[in-house]
Amino acid sequence: MKFFELLLLALALYYFLILRPKAVKEKKRRREAEKNSKPSSQATAAASPIIEKMVACEFCKVRLPDSEALIFDGRFYCGKAHLQSINAEGFLGSCKRVLSNNYDLRPENVTIDTIVIHHISLPEGKFGGHAIEDFFCNRLNPKDDPYYPTIIDLQVSAHFLIKRSGEVVQFVSTLKRAWHAGASTLMDRQKCNDFSIGIELEGTGELPFEPEQYQALKLLIEEIQIKHPISMIVGHSDISPGRKQDPGKFFDWQYFKEISQIPDQNFPFGMNSR
Ligand SMILES: [Zn+2]
Ligand SMILES: [Zn+2]
Repeated sequence: MKFFELLLLALALYYFLILRPKAVKEKKRRREAEKNSKPSSQATAAASPIIEKMVACEFCKVRLPDSEALIFDGRFYCGKAHLQSINAEGFLGSCKRVLSNNYDLRPENVTIDTIVIHHISLPEGKFGGHAIEDFFCNRLNPKDDPYYPTIIDLQVSAHFLIKRSGEVVQFVSTLKRAWHAGASTLMDRQKCNDFSIGIELEGTGELPFEPEQYQALKLLIEEIQIKHPISMIVGHSDISPGRKQDPGKFFDWQYFKEISQIPDQNFPFGMNSR
């Protein structure tokens, strides 16, 4: 064999006996290392941080993870106290909102110091439907009841409605003027809508109101009093005598005064049923 052929043979032997096994071994080692460093899918989930959705409290605007917020009617609150309060825009957190366009601005610098209690039912004497909401939002269907065509063009509203179950609905901000009292006089002041908050109780002049309604009324007035210096609670018939009969003789003023512990002087028309 010539020298050159011997050299080639030596190189081939070197490659097959030393270099190649070494490379194969290294490749295997790398593959093993890669396999060990790859975490399982479960481990990945545990290791990466959970990104929480942040929401703002409707009352105080503080931001908090949505898992810690109280949710009511699609709105978020940082705690029970703010959920149950009336916010800076005049809306109560803990009630459903059905916004009505039947409102306008109160006169400038007016003090909102009066609550007017009403009753309403639609159709008359029937409870539980959504016709009152529809009426205050100008979307009552005249075909649903023979009485509706006679009221369909009235543009009216109240700030709040308390249903037979005690559920509260708000239609208008307490800061705005709702159209609930019409022509009215309280002491020497006219146009009571200017300075009052109107609360409708679902009911008629023929039936007692439900205990849940008195309870909801008490809680609602407590919240209103935190925001507005209420000094008078009156019935619609007190400020529009002869023209209006609500809330009627079945509204128990004495019972309401007892459960609410509102002082006598805040009821200028007394406790007798009327
Ligand atoms: Zn808050
Ligand atoms: Zn009324």
